[in-house]
Amino acid sequence: MSGLQLADITKRFGAVTAVDGISLNVDDGTFVCLLGPSGCGKTTLLRMIAGLEDPTSGDIRLQGDRINDTPAHKRNLGMVFQSLALFPHLTIGENIAYPLRIRGANRADCEARVRELLDMVQLPGIENRTITQLSGGQRQRVAIARALAVSPQLFLLDEPLSALDAKLREAMQVELRQLQQRLGITTIVVTHDQREAMSMSDQIVVMSNGKVEQMASPIEAYKRPASPFVADFLGQANLIKVTKADGGAAFSGGLIPGLDIPYSGQVLISVRPEDVVVAEGEDGPVKADIVFIREMGSTIEIHLNAGSDRVIALAPPKSHCDLHVGTSVSLTLPPEACVVFGPEGAH
Ligand code: ATP
Repeated sequence: MSGLQLADITKRFGAVTAVDGISLNVDDGTFVCLLGPSGCGKTTLLRMIAGLEDPTSGDIRLQGDRINDTPAHKRNLGMVFQSLALFPHLTIGENIAYPLRIRGANRADCEARVRELLDMVQLPGIENRTITQLSGGQRQRVAIARALAVSPQLFLLDEPLSALDAKLREAMQVELRQLQQRLGITTIVVTHDQREAMSMSDQIVVMSNGKVEQMASPIEAYKRPASPFVADFLGQANLIKVTKADGGAAFSGGLIPGLDIPYSGQVLISVRPEDVVVAEGEDGPVKADIVFIREMGSTIEIHLNAGSDRVIALAPPKSHCDLHVGTSVSLTLPPEACVVFGPEGAH
């Protein structure tokens, strides 16, 4: 069921349209990431869901009820900001109990709930310490515990992990996802990190210029991007201009046999580097020259010139020991791995 519905939401700040007619449904219990480059409107959208900004137009509904005019503190949601906004003069226990206190909970109930929440975020027994005695990752968990103290219907997080170093961030991604799955709480996270979005969410909403480019599962968005923007933003993509030709699609480097182009004129296709096949010899439909190779640990990345196009291929290590910069090879772009973009998106 769609617990949260956004219907044609627009937000303008003077001449700037931060969010431009966004409609989307978030099913109960799902983990959704709002993903996109800086300035695309992610935070503004999250703040409108939270009640911290008013939409210029459009409706926000929670379980069918329009909540545009419901103040933030009555929306039954928990929120974690990038800054965490923990109170340094309060103990950890007091920080976590704060939202319960302002709702009038008594001391014993608060203490019991704080213990429960600290267990849940795997920090048992630290309620009497101060915030300054915690590491970055521990503070993150305290902020999460505080946001979940009132058992919210919606859990909203704005770049919650961006201040952490890479290793800790990955560990926290797993923890956050496990916690969300355990609690079954509808969660919306703003991030500009596509790996983070892909690895945590049930659904990702890829945004650009205040609009939704695509809402889909991570694998769907990766495999079948709805636009060149999505293809390029999620991981690496070879974006190549092609035209319909006899037996396939033609590009500057040769032919992609079997790829049907349902349009006349030039269109863009996208093919992921791991789908590009590099073979020794020059017998294939596309000849290419290697211009750069780098070892990436679990893969090797091969940059090739094919006609006037630059193509990147990823291959397993050791699979291509004989390839060097300057070697001429043959390339295959499997038609089933190519996404064709028409005037209005992917086909
Ligand atoms: P980032 O990843 O950098 O935080 P974002 O995708 O979250 O970016 P928003 O913060 O939502 O983007 O901003 C979207 C646009 O709206 C930007 O052009 C921004 O400058 C503008 N904007 C946001 N808040 C305000 C405001 N209070 N007043 C004026 N313009 C604003």
